[in-house]
Amino acid sequence: LASRDFHPQATIVDVAGVRFGNGLPPVMIAGPCSIESEEQMQAGAAAVKAGGGQMLRGGAFKPRTGPHSFQGLGVDGLALLQRAGQAHGLPVVTEVMRIEQLDAVMRHADMIQIGARNMQNFDLLKEVGKCGHPVLLKRGMSATLEEFLAAAEYILAEGNPKVVLCERGIRTFERATRNTLDLSVVPMIKELSHLPIVVDPSHATGKRSLVPVMTRAALVAGADGIMVEVHPDPARALCDGAQSLSGPEFSELMDSVRKLLGFL
Ligand code: PEP
Ligand code: MN
Repeated sequence: LASRDFHPQATIVDVAGVRFGNGLPPVMIAGPCSIESEEQMQAGAAAVKAGGGQMLRGGAFKPRTGPHSFQGLGVDGLALLQRAGQAHGLPVVTEVMRIEQLDAVMRHADMIQIGARNMQNFDLLKEVGKCGHPVLLKRGMSATLEEFLAAAEYILAEGNPKVVLCERGIRTFERATRNTLDLSVVPMIKELSHLPIVVDPSHATGKRSLVPVMTRAALVAGADGIMVEVHPDPARALCDGAQSLSGPEFSELMDSVRKLLGFL
């Protein structure tokens, strides 16, 4: 179902009017790693809107490496995300970690994110496949391209065709960056699959200074969109501040993206 062989026409995934894929202009998704407060989400959404972003991100259920790190605001956070999105006219995407969270996430978000750590949580994939909501499926940090597409297949096989893939870097021997951004999967996926693919340069690099240039590189490689972390005050972020852009930095990035798209 994910293969180009049986589906030569590229798929367009519509998320509350924002469309991904088939050569449409790339969709810029931006926002904080975690939902922290009403003020933080409103300021974050304002920064995304001011820069020209089309969708807002923010995590309420956070898959943190250690149990002592901020775990997210949970259901309370979902309402803050939804309100910030509505106030600024931005559809929202947020991660679901467990099947039990799916109903609440669907009520508050326009798109459901499956995080890298859950890419092979097959029961979760099946439930998300049954729910019919648009899905952003992130690549597992040590998943091959074949495994990535097989995970998408689980969602499609349950009758949900609205899948957008997301390359977010893979684990390699290199430690200078948080992960290794595998940009070649963008054209490779386009050969093998009809599904849209976006790139997350924030989790891929872990470094704010690398995010703008890798965003542009992903667009040159043909990405159907970008997801970047933007925080109104990155130094105070409860999660992933080192890879988050400030509002002005996001606006500057968006200026460079518009210039680049004029050339492409
Ligand atoms: C995220 O996007 O919030 C996230 C946790 O990313 P990943 O699942 O790619 O690590
Ligand atoms: Mn993050």
